[in-house]
Amino acid sequence: MNTAGAAIRGTLLRNEPMCLHTSLKVGGPADLYAIPEDAADLQSLLIWLGEQGIPWLTIGKGYNLLVRDTGIRGAVISLERFNKITAMGDRLLAAEAGAENLAVVRFAQNRGLGGIGFISGIPGTIGGAVKMNAGAYGEGILEKTDRLTLLRGGAVADFPMNELDYGYRRLNLAEGDIVLAAVFRLVERDPLLTEEEIRNDLELRRSKHNVGYPSAGSFFKNPAGQAAWRLIEAAGMRGARVGGAQVSLVHSNFLVNTGGACADDFLELAEKVKCAVFSTCGVTLEEEVRIVGAV
Ligand SMILES: Cc1cc2nc3c(=O)[nH]c(=O)nc-3n(C[C@H](O)[C@H](O)[C@H](O)COP(=O)(O)OP(=O)(O)OC[C@H]3O[C@@H](n4cnc5c(N)ncnc54)[C@H](O)[C@@H]3O)c2cc1C
Repeated sequence: MNTAGAAIRGTLLRNEPMCLHTSLKVGGPADLYAIPEDAADLQSLLIWLGEQGIPWLTIGKGYNLLVRDTGIRGAVISLERFNKITAMGDRLLAAEAGAENLAVVRFAQNRGLGGIGFISGIPGTIGGAVKMNAGAYGEGILEKTDRLTLLRGGAVADFPMNELDYGYRRLNLAEGDIVLAAVFRLVERDPLLTEEEIRNDLELRRSKHNVGYPSAGSFFKNPAGQAAWRLIEAAGMRGARVGGAQVSLVHSNFLVNTGGACADDFLELAEKVKCAVFSTCGVTLEEEVRIVGAV
């Protein structure tokens, strides 16, 4: 039992500022911030939250999250201690939700396996990558996924991908589902080729995405057949600013925190960008970044 009264062996913090857990460095406090030790600990935490009527949200490393300034009423659950990666034979590899993308690519590389090198430069965890169907260079992680292990309604079960609904930068889960792990279908691959792939990816990102300020990567999804950054440039929004939030001068689909920004600055700037793009090109941009927190 900890100070919040919950039966959890892991860490439970009260009033935890979410700006410490998001790459945009903005966001008010979460009432509770829980880091369960393992699956059994997570289950008892969820039972306790259910008994107390406390809502909850699972996050990864916050690289795709914009938390409102009002913070989060309820609990935020981080699975950062769920980071085991296992080779299962038959070119299958299982990774727990808290494992970092690059660590999974490296683990596969050391066993002569590959095929998911495109996630090496995407910051975050497998839980976040799966929920967002993270991808690059026209590939998405869920195309390489065999099945997911979900905690749904208190029970752990495996779901083959053909039973799940997903698409570009989205995986539709039921309310309250938690991704515990994913199994990837890999191919045999010379570790030196994977090394080249990783280096090329990191180099490309260093040259093209070096925005110099905290960001959440691409803020808007690419509309079908179009690049969001081009539409934003065409609308004359490169460099536009609200408070400390700015449309990056380096990459127009990155909204950056130039210092002292709050979540409201990002929300206002995003609306301005959407309005400008709509009035110039007639296209409605949709946020890729997940906006969460009390309204
Ligand atoms: C510099 C930079 C470059 C980027 N480049 C790319 C890129 O090339 N391609 C790309 O796709 N993205 C990119 N991103 C965005 C981001 O890295 C990805 O979306 C990443 O997958 C987020 O992972 P995360 O662990 O930080 O998830 P979070 O941001 O913490 O969470 C993302 C979503 O997943 C949910 N979630 C997280 N874990 C779980 C879980 N275990 N169970 C259920 N739901 C969960 C959260 O509730 C939230 O809705 C970039 C970001 C940055 C900052």
